[in-house]
Amino acid sequence: MFKTSGTTGNPLKIPYEEKFYLKTLFLSVRKIALISGYYIGNKSHIYNISLTDNPNCSNELWLSPENLVGDMLQVFIDISDISECVNVINQLNKLDFESLSLKPEILKLLVNIHLQKNIKPKAKYVICSGANLSENLKELAKNVLKIPVIEAYGLTEVGIVASNCACNKGMVIYDDLKVDVKNEKKFAGHDKNKKEGNLLLTSMRNKHLPLINYQTNDIVKLKLSNCSCFHDAKWRIVELKGRIMQNFVLPSGKYFPASAFHNLFALIRMREFQVIQRKIGEFLFIVDMRVDSEKNEQMIREILKKIIMEECKIEVTFKKINYTQTKFQRFISYL
Ligand SMILES: [Zn+2]
Repeated sequence: MFKTSGTTGNPLKIPYEEKFYLKTLFLSVRKIALISGYYIGNKSHIYNISLTDNPNCSNELWLSPENLVGDMLQVFIDISDISECVNVINQLNKLDFESLSLKPEILKLLVNIHLQKNIKPKAKYVICSGANLSENLKELAKNVLKIPVIEAYGLTEVGIVASNCACNKGMVIYDDLKVDVKNEKKFAGHDKNKKEGNLLLTSMRNKHLPLINYQTNDIVKLKLSNCSCFHDAKWRIVELKGRIMQNFVLPSGKYFPASAFHNLFALIRMREFQVIQRKIGEFLFIVDMRVDSEKNEQMIREILKKIIMEECKIEVTFKKINYTQTKFQRFISYL
């Protein structure tokens, strides 16, 4: 079984061993909930609903084997259409479910919808992962939605790596993984319980893809510390840099998901691209082509117009994109 990865980096094909896939799909959400202390386990038919704005994803239901944890439902939400979002939330609320998993941008959307329309999903807790969750948004979501927010960090390659424990002191790194950092930042007054640099992961979870010191390109601050949840000290991610994903805004005021551009890799033979929203109605596309002779500004602009669908000024530039130490920022908004 293969899954593709690539929220912020180049898409990779990841081979999944069946048992690993099963664990990742059904058990990791429950583990996150258990560690956070919010797990209820009231035998809901559907345990988790995953909300996605990625137009390449469809509505899907994964039935839990032997009904061990409850089923997993993935639902596509069109973030450009608020009344449709309200409709989706109303439909979901007819179901009995415990957890809701989503990206920070969708959490922000749910906060705005609740403020405008006074409707919110009936989840017992929200699991937020996929990109950096700012402290501001976490607080705002807790205050407005009145639903606990659990932060988690994972990669398609290894599954969930870390999540908040009950005392919320950063994200606890799971015991079956080994972590280290590359290009470690040196501090005055060396403290062996603190590390900062490019996160390296060692994982034997997936038999089809054992990884040793795998470079994630996420810049992290790690801290080894105690808390009341565990007997021994745990390494925690106390800060995560990179993996920033923002939605764009169109002239009509509608949100536009960055994930709508993922299809571009299938349409244009390019190594990498970058989308920059300079202001409302104005985009800059930087394209790093695989083949120089295929540089066709007009053709690329037409493809982009079809994706964006609203009248915007689109500038296309061809440029070699250099990767720096931190995770490559494919989507940037100056709004
Ligand atoms: Zn704790």
